[in-house]
Amino acid sequence: MFENGQQVTVETADGNESASSFDLRFSQVKALLQKEFGDTAFRSWIAPIDAVSCTAGTLTLAVPTRFIRDWVKSHYADRIRSLWTQHFGAVARVEIGISGKKADKPAVSAAHAGVAYETPVIANENAAKDAAAADFSVALDPRYTFENFVTGSSNEFAYAAARKIADNEKVSFNPLFLQGGVGLGKTHLMHAIAHTARASGRKVAYMSAEKFMYDFVRALRFQDTMAFKARFRSVDVLMIDDIQFICGKDATQEEFFHTFNSLIDQGKQIVISADQSPADMSGLEERLRSRLSMGLVAAIHPTTYELRLGILQSKCAQMKRNLPQDVLEFLAQKVASNVRELEGALNRLIAHAELVNRPVTVDTAQDLLADILRANDRRTTIEDIQRKVCEHYGIRLADMHSPRRARPVARPRQLAMYLCKQLTTHSLPEIGRKFGGRDHTTIIHGVRKIEELLAGDPVLRDDLESLKKAIAA
Ligand code: ADP
Ligand code: MG
Repeated sequence: MFENGQQVTVETADGNESASSFDLRFSQVKALLQKEFGDTAFRSWIAPIDAVSCTAGTLTLAVPTRFIRDWVKSHYADRIRSLWTQHFGAVARVEIGISGKKADKPAVSAAHAGVAYETPVIANENAAKDAAAADFSVALDPRYTFENFVTGSSNEFAYAAARKIADNEKVSFNPLFLQGGVGLGKTHLMHAIAHTARASGRKVAYMSAEKFMYDFVRALRFQDTMAFKARFRSVDVLMIDDIQFICGKDATQEEFFHTFNSLIDQGKQIVISADQSPADMSGLEERLRSRLSMGLVAAIHPTTYELRLGILQSKCAQMKRNLPQDVLEFLAQKVASNVRELEGALNRLIAHAELVNRPVTVDTAQDLLADILRANDRRTTIEDIQRKVCEHYGIRLADMHSPRRARPVARPRQLAMYLCKQLTTHSLPEIGRKFGGRDHTTIIHGVRKIEELLAGDPVLRDDLESLKKAIAA
């Protein structure tokens, strides 16, 4: 952390003696970034950065264009700050200015690709060719493995499908489409597939849809789309994360569509992730939508209490840290939104325990996590769920409480039980009471029944998705 008394001041680079040592330091940071992010990213984004000064806890940098500045700011500034702090003394902030050094205008307008684009990123064409030849997949997170992925009813289907692809088993689906809300493990599963497939010698390209688009833009700019196409078409497994990003970006979608088709024709495996199913994504061209729906859409559903508890225990074991069981249960109960937030809450408690050197209690957890807990408290009620389910299936609210067992009311009732279990933190007996005083074993039975059906019934899965949306609205 940065404190006033601890400012480390490096002389400015204004032509005095220390200028060269300052530049040298920054080039060391650049070299570290190159190692970390790879050559392609380095040439495009990091090489153009100039160091200007470092005074009063602020490291000031300059880049040629606004476009590069925005990118560097969102992707590398934090890392630059921490590397500088780690090696040369604390800086609290990184400021990035625009030097206005002009490079040539793009040969082909990149506006076609659906992005606002300023001056080019790479100073000359040879550099672009080199970049094209380099490994174009992004770095994988070593922690995102199958071993570290905790499974439960909400994600085991997606996990099993991912495993099959990673192990190169003969599968009848292509692409595998992983669909799930934020922070539920899509990227984790994708990296896990990539680690495993690479270990067995397959050529894997993994990247976000955003990077796919930027690479495409650059290929357009350098009239180098042939190499771009060839590169993608040489892989065994193509993985594109967060495909929703290319919605509404027509030229990128078109390019992706062709890449996609030629890989499928060659029998290569494709894995896609998105926050929605192909059917629900807006701004997607129809032919791409139907292509994406050809394969297997595997949903990762919101976590259950048990899964959250399992994840917390697994993370503690990984970090070799202990928190009291009641604190873990409290977290699993209260932080139900997504796994990323759950991890964030856990890390905060562990950091606190270390700082004060005392075990965390539920009370302190409540204090330390007040902001997260508040956000998770906008809670769905059992009544909300029952009402939405009834509207959806055109049945009466009284059917939720009645003993009638006819399928047209029994199935929606079970679905409502399932949703109550997933989306609220009520206990099974509490849920049972709101369903006409049913026993908690009836609720368990209902939840299991729905889980079973979901695995094989795409219509029910669709119903579930639209209900979840209606309930969240
Ligand atoms: P998404 O890509 O769906 O937004 P991520 O894959 O980035 O989500 O997951 C967010 C965080 O939660 C990551 O740190 C990931 O390791 C963790 N995570 C998600 N699901 C699980 C799981 N089932 N087991 C262990 N960790 C998980
Ligand atoms: Mg992700």
